Amino acid sequence: MTTRAGIGYDSHRFAPGGPLRLGGVDIPGDVHLVGHSDGDAVAHALTDAILGAAVAGDIGEMFSDRDPANRGRDSLEMLRAAVARAHALGWEVAHADVSIVTERPRIASHRDGMRGALAGALGIDAAAVSVKGKTNEGMGWIGSGEGLACIAVVTLARR
Ligand code: MG
Repeated sequence: MTTRAGIGYDSHRFAPGGPLRLGGVDIPGDVHLVGHSDGDAVAHALTDAILGAAVAGDIGEMFSDRDPANRGRDSLEMLRAAVARAHALGWEVAHADVSIVTERPRIASHRDGMRGALAGALGIDAAAVSVKGKTNEGMGWIGSGEGLACIAVVTLARR
């Protein structure tokens, strides 16, 4: 079976006022992520990982932050569009793995909700979607709570 791997990275800044949209889930709390879209860094990193594996451009080219149509856009919709672009090129998503680097919130209690939401957008079983959380040990801009970062790896297989 022919497979390809792609990597995606994204980061967004926190601002006051919840909920926090992350991994397709609304997490109650007192902060959200600032973005032209809904700021869902997990969905954005996965979108870029798919496009990278398919050698099919990047999220900024697909969804320009200068286009008013993308303001407040549901990032799972962007993820679905990347999956569709990969499909059109003969690829399907086989597996996705995500690391969220943040001091808050703790990811563990939201992990399965995110896996389900992301699996729905990816069109695969939640058993093939991994979500992991870790802190930055208090260091740097993540450690100070300025924002969070996400790294994603996706495997595509020939349809
Ligand atoms: Mg982003």
